[in-house]
Amino acid sequence: MKKLDILDLLKKGTVLGDGGYVFELERRGYVQAGPYTPEVALEHPEALEQLHVEFLRAGAEVLQALTFYASEDKLEISGRAHLIQDINRAAVRIAKKAAKDDALVAGVVTLTPSYEHGNVESLRKVRGLFDHQIALQKDEGVDFIIGETFINLEEALLALDAIKASGLPSMLTMNFTVDGSSDGFSVEDCARRLADRGADIIGMNCNYDPEVSLMIVERMRKAVNIHIACQPVAYSTPHGTGPFFDHYCFPLSLEQLQLSRFELASFARRARDIGVGYIGGCCGVLAYHVRAMAEALGRRPPASEKSPNLARHVIPEIRTRSDEEYWHAAAH
Ligand SMILES: [Zn+2]
Repeated sequence: MKKLDILDLLKKGTVLGDGGYVFELERRGYVQAGPYTPEVALEHPEALEQLHVEFLRAGAEVLQALTFYASEDKLEISGRAHLIQDINRAAVRIAKKAAKDDALVAGVVTLTPSYEHGNVESLRKVRGLFDHQIALQKDEGVDFIIGETFINLEEALLALDAIKASGLPSMLTMNFTVDGSSDGFSVEDCARRLADRGADIIGMNCNYDPEVSLMIVERMRKAVNIHIACQPVAYSTPHGTGPFFDHYCFPLSLEQLQLSRFELASFARRARDIGVGYIGGCCGVLAYHVRAMAEALGRRPPASEKSPNLARHVIPEIRTRSDEEYWHAAAH
């Protein structure tokens, strides 16, 4: 049976994405904090595949190939530019191996160190970097391409043009602040320009927790009439405290801001209710969060066979916590 493509899936209902790869693989010892480049695809493919499998079991309908920061110029920073083909190809193959026929695989491009606002030479180079990565990912058989974490609209539009030129469906998510893009466009302006340029899905990822992210994507939702995606971080960034990288514990001690499964479940329900079609996670979102989101959307993914049953706990006091109300109260 032919798999539905991402746009067919979105027509049918809410699509559940996966979580964050880079920070988790850093915590597990396979990615280096600092460069954060994804050579894990070549050095420890089994570690990357395992994380994909965890997200799949938790209900993800899309696995994102770990080609984030795999542009030639970014790889150059960690001395691996010569591995660009191998890394992009391996990352897609690993995601496809994990997905089998149970999930779509998205290729990924993201912001590049070569980008300089308004510099024609730089824009030409960056477009070439995107074209190269996308050609490799398409050749390995990705189902669509996500351009993500862009702080400048200008660079996001370059990525969008490159994706559209490949003929694959496009999803473009900005790494906004509440004031919009770094190159001075409001949230609404970015939404309209990306939609007018032909993006299939637009939205935001990274930077903010579900609370603030939903405030922003709701504004995008009102500005345009195309599919909206939201992939927040699972770290607390109360409104007014700035994006997560502004917090003193970024990036090596983020655990103290970690959000619970209940907060991500609540996010999934609220996102669906305001019309977000593609609901997933970015940094700090792990498989147990994705399972909680899946269950909040009324699904029962394979990992639900191990969903909590505290009524069977050996300590009587803990058994009383099997009531969901207890955890709602504890989360607030
Ligand atoms: Zn992120």
